[in-house]
Order: sequence, then C-alpha cells, then structure tokens
Amino acid sequence: MSALTHATHATHPAAGTTSTLHFVDPRHFKANTSEAVGDAHLRASFRSAMDFLQAKRAGHFSDTAAFDALRGVGEAIRRYSLSRLPDLLERLEGNLIARGVQVHWAATPAEANAIFLAIARAHDAKGMIKGKSMVSEEIELNHRMAEQGVDCLESDMGEYIVQLAGERPSHIIMPAIHKTKQQIAALFAQEIPDTPYTEDVDALIAIGRRVLRNEFRDAKVGVSGVNFLVAETGTLCLVENEGNGRMCTTVPEVHIAITGIEKVVERFEHVLPLFSLLTRSATGQAVTTYFNAITGPRRPGELDGPKEVHLVLLDNGRSQAWRDADFRATLQCIRCGACMNHCPVYARIGGLAYGTTYPGPIGAIISPHLLGLEPTQDLPTASSLCGACAEVCPVGIPIPELLMQLRRAAKHDPEPGHEPLGGQASAKDWKEALAWKAWAWLNEHPALYRHAVSIGRRLRGLTPNWQAGWTAHRTPMKLAAKGLRERLAEQEGRRPTPDRR
Ligand code: SF4
Repeated sequence: MSALTHATHATHPAAGTTSTLHFVDPRHFKANTSEAVGDAHLRASFRSAMDFLQAKRAGHFSDTAAFDALRGVGEAIRRYSLSRLPDLLERLEGNLIARGVQVHWAATPAEANAIFLAIARAHDAKGMIKGKSMVSEEIELNHRMAEQGVDCLESDMGEYIVQLAGERPSHIIMPAIHKTKQQIAALFAQEIPDTPYTEDVDALIAIGRRVLRNEFRDAKVGVSGVNFLVAETGTLCLVENEGNGRMCTTVPEVHIAITGIEKVVERFEHVLPLFSLLTRSATGQAVTTYFNAITGPRRPGELDGPKEVHLVLLDNGRSQAWRDADFRATLQCIRCGACMNHCPVYARIGGLAYGTTYPGPIGAIISPHLLGLEPTQDLPTASSLCGACAEVCPVGIPIPELLMQLRRAAKHDPEPGHEPLGGQASAKDWKEALAWKAWAWLNEHPALYRHAVSIGRRLRGLTPNWQAGWTAHRTPMKLAAKGLRERLAEQEGRRPTPDRR
C-alpha cells in the first residue's frame, strides 16, 4: 500500500471499540487522581521536579520576543509539514528505500508489533535492546514481545529504572521522575545481583551502565524512536543525552526505528529550529549531548553500523486527526513535555494517574485519537484551562481550544460534514442534554425566563446542600438573591432597567 494511502485512509483502530491495548487504562483516571492528590510525598516530588524544569526552560527563553519569533518558525514548519503529509511520506519512503532502509507501515499497534516480531524471528533474536521511544510505549512493545518470548531491555537510564520496577513512565522526557534516589538505590540493590545499596547518584548510574554495556555487546536487534524524519534526504534524526541511542542504532546487526507518521519534515534545514525548540523546552539545554542522523545501513567499506535498518511508521489514529481540520494541530507536537511541566493538574497528580502513554495536556489531546474517546473522555476535563500549556508550547498548539473541542466531541454527535472521532458522544448524558435543551428554550422565552428566575429566587432557601458530584469539592450552587441588573442599578443609585427581551 502506498504512503499516500496509508496517510489518508488508514482506519481508526479504536473507532467504536475498546482499545486493544492492555497496559494502559485511562478509565480509572478519577480514582487514580483521588489517590494521587492524597499522596503528599508524590505531590512534593513532582512539584520540585516541575519547578526545576520550569526554571531550566525559563533560563533559555528569557527573551520572550526571541522565543515568540522562534516559536513562529517552529509552528510554521510543523503546519507546512502536516499540510503536505501524504506527499512528504511518499518522498520519505522513496528516499529511505534508495538508501537501503526497509520501510514498514502499521495502521495499528498490533500491526506494528507483528512487524517487530517478524524481524526478530527472521534473525533468530531472543531479545532486543531499546533506546527511548514513546511510540514503542504506545504499542506496548515490551509486553507484546515478552508474550512471544522476545525480551526487550530498556537502555535509557530512566526507562531502565521504570522497567526494573515493573512500572510505566510518568513523564515523556523523564520517565522515572516520580522515583526518589532512595527508591532507586533500594531497587538496584534488590534487582541487580551483587549490587550494594548506595544513594550516590554517580554510583547508581555506573551500576546501570555496567549492566547495559554487556547487553549492548550481545544484542542482535536494537530499537530506537525518531524525533524527526527528513523527506528530501531520507534521514532519521534522533536526539538524546546518554549515548544509549547511538549504541542501540550502531552496535546490533539490526536497527529497528519506530515513530508516528506525523514526524516528517521536508528539508534538513527544517529540523534545526525544531531541534532548538525541543531541547530548550524539554530539558533547558541549548543542545543535547548527541544528535544522531541515520541514513541507512552500513555501506561497503564502513567499519560499523547495523547491517539492516528498518523504519516502522505508525498511524494508530493519527490519520483521522490529520483529516479533521479542527484536530490536525494536535499532530504538530514535537514531544518536548513543556506543557506537562507547566500544567497545574499534572504537577499535582503526576503522570501515572492518567493511565495513558502520554500524560498531561499533550496526553489529554492526543490520547482520544489513539485510544478513542470512550476510555479517555475524562482526560480533556482534567484542565483548569489556565492556558499555561499553550503559552509554553514551542510549536503553538492551541491546547485549551482542543481540550474544549474534545469535551464537546465526548458529549455530542459530530457536526454535519465532520467524521466522527472514535468514541464520539460516548459521554452523552440524556438528562444533561435535556436540561440544556430546557435552559435554551427558557432563554428563548424571556417572560417565562423572568418568571422562572423569580420563583427560583423565592425558593433559594430550599436549595439542597448536597448536589451530586458538585458538592464533593465545592459549595452548593444557589441562585443569587439579586440579579446583575439589580446589583448594577443599586451601585449606580437608580431603578433597575426592565429586561425587554
Ligand atoms: S503539546 Fe507542545 S508543549 Fe506539549 S509536548 Fe507537544 S510540543 Fe511540547
């Protein structure tokens, strides 16, 4: 199937169904949130981590005019790339094949996992060593491969810690941000043979490196993510700090890269502003320690590099978001995590409460496309709409607007001419819909409206103190004793103007 076909007609895997994934379950979001806000230790560690990351970012964007200008460039590149997505994917595929890269298209996580398994089996590989890749988390690669007898070992230090603990990443850039050094020290002492308990951070990193270095030497297959795909050169760009990404993509005989179809840009020069925005927004670095530009397998005469390079391009709901003019902006994301670091909700509940691969504001806008709205309907409501996420987003994604649209899509059928999202209207409540209809009707009949309000005011003393979920955390809703018109008139010392609607 051609890239164009894949980019424009892949079906939504979660449309009208429950997710086929097992490890993520955002249906427990509310219960998880209650538990998380009750955990003072978790709140304190996320608060200090977010303060640290915010300060690091702020140090690099102290000149707001310069930030706005660079963000304008980044946004324009992402919008331009998405506007030409099918064409760029075609060119990317052609150029990659010309360089000897094998390109695979996966509409769903199941298809992507089947591709990984087939490659592992073709090389008789019993294991894979992985660099950091959120898309591999999205398809639950480790778990699906383990079911088939193929062990995946994480080599990014944060991911390695999370895997050793049997947990999931709580942040897209810093997966183990929820763990203290004492917890990591205890984990290493318990899980890694002959390891003494130490809280010395350098010693802990050295222990992890020692384990992983041996694994790099023996692995037949290395796995990585991709930050940017360059269509005109057929280049896979990988941004990292630890060097494990370079090891995964050069030491094993086979390198499999996986990423979403939206990561493509047209030209190499488009990568540079995005790279600058990404590193400053994510970790407050002007540049990362490593920037890998991968252009195919080892060529004759070259001494190192993999003999085979594969690229798995995952759709998983992205093409549906792309087709919808309202939601296409979601795909501009470069996964920097800045929206999470500045979100007051994320800072209080942490990443695990969301129950999704991508937590925080980016998770709330992307997860409904990946998993459908039925299991994710609570996520877009987990926002005060303060706008901090949009303020810091380096590619200008209007996150609060998208959250509002998703809230609407969860409750309402699609507008005429709009394709339904997976799980559209799954949160529809006929009682609520009826109440809003009655409210709208009353507003269209001013005399009746005034009459109803006047009765309501007289009965306000009877307002119940318990009002379903509302009063769990708020004071009861009560009609005001006086309306705005009367209050204004009182302030101005005149008689209220009659409502002539
Ligand atoms: S939505 Fe914006 S701020 Fe959030 S991860 Fe994506 S690019 Fe970064």
